[in-house]
Amino acid sequence: MKSPTRYVVIEDELAIRRFLRASLPSGETEFFEAETGEAGIQLVAQKNPDIVLLDLGLPDMDGLEVLRRIREWSNVPIIILSARGQEKDKIGALDAGANDYLTKPFSYGELMARVRVALRYSERDNVGAAREFAVGDLRIDFEARQVFVAGQEVRVTPIEFKLLLALARHPGKVLTHNQLLREVWGAGYTDSTHTLRVHMGSIRQKIEKNPSQPLYIRTETGVGYRMLAD
Ligand code: CA
Repeated sequence: MKSPTRYVVIEDELAIRRFLRASLPSGETEFFEAETGEAGIQLVAQKNPDIVLLDLGLPDMDGLEVLRRIREWSNVPIIILSARGQEKDKIGALDAGANDYLTKPFSYGELMARVRVALRYSERDNVGAAREFAVGDLRIDFEARQVFVAGQEVRVTPIEFKLLLALARHPGKVLTHNQLLREVWGAGYTDSTHTLRVHMGSIRQKIEKNPSQPLYIRTETGVGYRMLAD
């Protein structure tokens, strides 16, 4: 039998903790909760969870600070729970190593979709680097540096390939503008989101059936981009 998934939830809102406790299937889940950042950090250290759900607005300290402290010693997947309109905080959290975020109020379906991707992504990290990525009709061969759509090779520029590679190495995960710029162009270009948009437009022309309604690379408005997970 599969061992239960261990959750640590760091959230001061009782309603949200109740909702999570009630929704997560009890046989398959172990659920630990903390109301403050300090208690949450301790709980993560003690329980060695599979996943952490972290609220950004905590009574004793900033959720971002909690995230940074956990990231000093743990790679556990962390999903941020944020209030609407906290775009800047979300970006800061992703840049600081959060795996994903959910905007309140969120549904059980949204939560489980994000949790599944975060868990799979962390398992994949342990397995080591894959040689290729495939989803739908899109296939990216990392070693040969080739991109195929429905079996046909698509010519991409070196920059476009680097962008595709960055996203395809983390399917289902939002990469922020900063993370992509740093990865593709290096540390000096971190504020040129316009450049990023131009290259993304060009990639979409090449890989998407309908570039204005992209299937493979989704725009997370104001935050970054996300590659479809298989
Ligand atoms: Ca809160």
